Amino acid sequence: MGVRKVATIAARSLIRDKPHHAQWLITKKCNYKCLGCNVWEEQDKNELSTEEIKRGMDILKEAGIIELVISGGDPLLRDDIGEIIDYATERFVTTVYDNGSMAAKKIENLRKVDFVALSIDSLNEKTHDYIKNVPGAWKNAMETVETLQKENIKVSISLTISQINLNEIADITNYFTNKDISVWYALYSYDTTQDPNQLFRIGKSNEEFIIKDKAAMVKLCDTLMEMKKTNKRILITNRILKAIKSLYAEEKRTWNCKALQSFLVVDHLGRIAGCHNHTFAGSIFDLPKNWKSEKYNTLREKYKNCTQCTYLCYIFYSLYGTPSTNLSLAKEQWKNASLLLKK
Ligand code: SF4
Ligand code: SF4
Repeated sequence: MGVRKVATIAARSLIRDKPHHAQWLITKKCNYKCLGCNVWEEQDKNELSTEEIKRGMDILKEAGIIELVISGGDPLLRDDIGEIIDYATERFVTTVYDNGSMAAKKIENLRKVDFVALSIDSLNEKTHDYIKNVPGAWKNAMETVETLQKENIKVSISLTISQINLNEIADITNYFTNKDISVWYALYSYDTTQDPNQLFRIGKSNEEFIIKDKAAMVKLCDTLMEMKKTNKRILITNRILKAIKSLYAEEKRTWNCKALQSFLVVDHLGRIAGCHNHTFAGSIFDLPKNWKSEKYNTLREKYKNCTQCTYLCYIFYSLYGTPSTNLSLAKEQWKNASLLLKK
């Protein structure tokens, strides 16, 4: 990312009453069958065109979005992904997700992206292939990491913490960060949606993944906070770690959800919701007229008191997103700023 883009993004992050984070599930297509996910079972070939996505991105920028996460399905399965990424990186800090199967085949499309997040959940081949439910997934992902790093593409690891790999998280973190690869984290969660018209289903309930060893989870938060003192490649803030710790130690939520306030999600058909667990609240193309509407204000009030999920990205966006929290994030992450700047 150039210095100019960093400066523009920093200035936009200080504007009040705007959503700063958006996740766009641009396709439902997926070639994996992860045991904790519903998406692969609910394939839909319909999706927005390239031009519609570009128009949507203009609207998101205008609305205040500074960070765009492009996910799916596997977004790299779209033929027009190069064009979408180029358009996104000119406007946002852009992260693109991949399950590890596609990025090495799309190198040229990934040159400008700020972060390519590869999902790797274990250093053990069998465990990872079991979680992804695809033989060869681990080998694919590990080779892809190597290829991207050689090609100088900003690869990072997205690590989902679950009961299955809870005791492995520190080792996985050390393994990749020792290779100068950043690691960020998701928390295994599943949809406990009470809204029958939820936008799309992601997390599937799976007994094996549910974190039951709460003491180990609390200890992991302490371990990561300690490791962070000397390891700038660990991309989780102390504020988040403290929030997770209090969730597991005392079952206490230290945040109010800021769905449809500091963040929003968009599905493959261009429908918007505060988060994927709730009914869509209009099309992305109507966002400008809806953002300050009575309807959206009522939804925000409802979501503020919602405690239905513990998806880490939503916790993150709820803890950060206002100008003052963005500043505190910048302060904590200042030493990591070089990760965003062009090599
Ligand atoms: S978690 Fe991602 S890679 Fe796995 S099935 Fe779901 S959408 Fe596909
Ligand atoms: S807590 Fe927030 S992100 Fe989670 S289901 Fe409720 S409104 Fe959605």
